[in-house]
Amino acid sequence: RLIGAAKASNQEEALERALRPKRLADYVGQQKIRNQLEIFIQAARKRGEALDHVLLFGPPGLGKTTLAHIVAAEMGVNLRQTSGPVLERAGDLAALLTNLEPHDVLFIDEIHRLSPVVEEILYPALEDFQIDIMIGEGPAARSVKLDLPPFTLVGATTRAGMLTNPLRDRFGIVSRLEFYTAQELAYIVSRSSRLLDVEIDDTGAFEIARRARGTPRIANRLLRRVRDYAEVRADGRITAEVADAALTMLDVDHLGLDLMDRKLLGAMLEKFGGGPVGLDNLAAAIGESSDTIEDVLEPYLIQQGYLQRTPRGRMATASIWQHFGLRPPGGGQG
Ligand code: ADP
Repeated sequence: RLIGAAKASNQEEALERALRPKRLADYVGQQKIRNQLEIFIQAARKRGEALDHVLLFGPPGLGKTTLAHIVAAEMGVNLRQTSGPVLERAGDLAALLTNLEPHDVLFIDEIHRLSPVVEEILYPALEDFQIDIMIGEGPAARSVKLDLPPFTLVGATTRAGMLTNPLRDRFGIVSRLEFYTAQELAYIVSRSSRLLDVEIDDTGAFEIARRARGTPRIANRLLRRVRDYAEVRADGRITAEVADAALTMLDVDHLGLDLMDRKLLGAMLEKFGGGPVGLDNLAAAIGESSDTIEDVLEPYLIQQGYLQRTPRGRMATASIWQHFGLRPPGGGQG
């Protein structure tokens, strides 16, 4: 079973890679970042320099990794990819840095999870394209300065607030990715359908888009599941009706909330009277980590106005009481 699951997720990853837009012109939405990057990339190329370091932050699945690859493609350079938790020792990062070609992109995902020793190495690398490494051990150990080729660090994180100040200050370009509109996601779903050779009409694409939590990764995942449904239960063609039936079967409700969202909101309403409730209590009540709640679940619910963050804790809004068919105690707040 485990092997089966690993296989399935490898397949999903391969599909995700295949659906990734390769150039800035194919990257849907995020107009502000796209405009900025277009200018900065052109300017850097004109001057024959590496692009300034870029920090991308926002919830998972909004296109940070995709954008890092696009930056490298538009700069005409290679991309090396790693992640904060993978870089355990200073030497791991030093090895990566000293193997870069001029102007290459180093992409560090989950950059807020770098260990302090690794972060120390990064500062002079980012600022002066130099690193200090220790050679030898004990009394014979000495520190050596190495010059690096000019390069671009693209860092991605779910929360910019988790970065240390000195690290954040070393990025010249800092961009926050926003949730996508249903129109933008419908465009992405239509494009993915063409690439996957799926027959879908505009109403079908829009129905999936509208229920994808503002997130391209979720839209693409739902598309693949709806396609399965369409092939088995219909004639293979995805219409609004087929999409609705499939999404309902997948436990995605009409607001686009999934089981996890409803578990969280349901607990808030039923166990905590709508709040305010502290993050840790909420996490314990639904058996999820508070990080998952903060990084994955909450941002979309807040953006949609279903949940509020107050100084005293999380609170459900009136619209979510309504959605659950319940009455707020004391006649409604939020
Ligand atoms: P993140 O790194 O933020 O978690 P990814 O870059 O891995 O997100 O994006 C997840 C998937 O969503 C990608 O495989 C890609 O197919 C799709 N995607 C993300 N952003 C866009 C976009 N702007 N336009 C089209 N597809 C996108």
